[in-house]
Amino acid sequence: MPEGDTVYRSAKQLNAALAGTVLTRCDIRVPAFATVDLSGEIVRNVASRGKHLLMRIGEYTIHSHLKMEGSWRLFRGEQRWSRPAYLARGILANSEYTAVGFELGTLNVVRTDEEGSLVDHLGPDLLGPDWDAELALANLREDPEREIGLALLDQRNLAGIGNVYRAEICFLRGILPTTPVGDVANLEKTVDLSYRLLHANKDRSTRVTTGNLRRDTLWVYGRTGKPCFRCGTPIGHGTLGDSELTLRDTWWCPRCQS
Ligand SMILES: [Zn+2]
Repeated sequence: MPEGDTVYRSAKQLNAALAGTVLTRCDIRVPAFATVDLSGEIVRNVASRGKHLLMRIGEYTIHSHLKMEGSWRLFRGEQRWSRPAYLARGILANSEYTAVGFELGTLNVVRTDEEGSLVDHLGPDLLGPDWDAELALANLREDPEREIGLALLDQRNLAGIGNVYRAEICFLRGILPTTPVGDVANLEKTVDLSYRLLHANKDRSTRVTTGNLRRDTLWVYGRTGKPCFRCGTPIGHGTLGDSELTLRDTWWCPRCQS
């Protein structure tokens, strides 16, 4: 599941492969932008903003969001792609690499001076140069009745947390995802933990919250009915959302979290 750490790492790898080079191929396979051709333009940089990826090329920005299944992958020269070509939504190449965006949830092309229209709604980015813990706290506290599990996922409060981290953060802080923000003791510690977890994982391919890099890497995410690593109680599972349409799965330990 792509979260802020995945997008950060993708941006870093894409930036290393493409920045400062001329595009030799630009193939956008999304109807609205199918005629866009940025080949011949120089890639200025590739950056992440929360879970959004921004590829700045010439005077334009290709903006993408990975959603549930998306990924950007890099291939060298004629190397065979690791996923089927019909899933490709964007293909960019220079003389050495081909970057392919598979199953992207969103893909837009805008002028770079207008990219704010796509990302300005985001709160401070946990992995960004603009990280501001005080502002993230203030954003969260604006709605004290809201469940912490929803508030942490709301990218307008702070950007980068997805479904895996919200479950793990709530476990590590000993709070149920349904606890109202106003009832969370030491909310600043929850924000600080979020920052530390994303940073600890930003350069590795396996996401780890337990400290064990080899196995049992997550405390509760996806572990329905399995024994809690701390207390042995079966892990609970349910859904949480602002409405029926936005329900997402979540997990918790009924004993360790209250
Ligand atoms: Zn437990």
